Amino acid sequence: MNKKGVLYLCATPIGNLKDITIRVMEILKDVDYIAAEDTRRTIKLLNYYNINTPLLSYHEHNKEKRGLELIELLEKEKKIALVSDAGTPGLSDPGFELIKESIKKDIEVTSLPGPCAAVAAVTVSGFPIKRFAFYGFLSSKKKERRKELKEIGFENKTVVIYEAPHRLLKTLEELTGYLAGREIAVCRELTKKFEEIKRGKLPELIGYFKESSPKGEISIVIEPGEWEELQVERSFTEAAFEVRQLKEAGVKEKEAVKIIARYFNLSSKDLYKKIIDEKENFNK
Ligand code: SAM
Repeated sequence: MNKKGVLYLCATPIGNLKDITIRVMEILKDVDYIAAEDTRRTIKLLNYYNINTPLLSYHEHNKEKRGLELIELLEKEKKIALVSDAGTPGLSDPGFELIKESIKKDIEVTSLPGPCAAVAAVTVSGFPIKRFAFYGFLSSKKKERRKELKEIGFENKTVVIYEAPHRLLKTLEELTGYLAGREIAVCRELTKKFEEIKRGKLPELIGYFKESSPKGEISIVIEPGEWEELQVERSFTEAAFEVRQLKEAGVKEKEAVKIIARYFNLSSKDLYKKIIDEKENFNK
């Protein structure tokens, strides 16, 4: 017999509050505590369903201390429901540490699956879903981030990234340096009133989001690269074309040359010269 508590991983809505399973509701009512990443968000859900279970915060900034307390409670046969800010706990939130520690302590961990932004975004994107790669939030550390962007550039599976609205433009611009030409779906506010799925290639999307500053929750889905194509070194002509596209979307020429040169594995100086030559030819 299990002399310890149980950690329930409860998926909660990623938008519409009605988007919750009956089983999750029952568990949220039944457990001793709910450990929530964002108590302000979770309280709205609990109020909506008249659930009065005590709430404990468990987030990035208290995960060590609170994690130990939660494990202690679980060791004392308490049942805890873990909920993330939205969706399935454990994906791009501190849930992973608590799950890992619970397993280490022989505490039962059980999943109540349901909404998940990554799954909603990848399915609605229309890109192949036989295999997909989930990258979550890209690292904020320069070196690590560049490595991830490079990996994404060489990915021949559909890719899903989570992003904050104020960083969307910067990330789209950065991606240009690694996956020029690929189709992207920017999924915003899925299942909510202002849901928007904007599809297109990077220059078009950059232009669009420059005009309409994005708000809300965002997942970016990228179509897989063609393996053979990924290996081919692009020509100067093709690179110059991509620079023009970026410029049309509002990126400064010098920056566009730098980004595209990096992707095509060319020297910025040579690419810049090619563009100047093209301009001169055009003006002749
Ligand atoms: N564990 C959660 C899940 O399974 O969906 C994700 C938690 S993560 C902290 C939150 C991120 O998920 C947001 O910053 C956004 O990138 C993405 N996200 C959440 N809700 C979304 C929505 N309604 N539409 C698009 N993306 C969403």
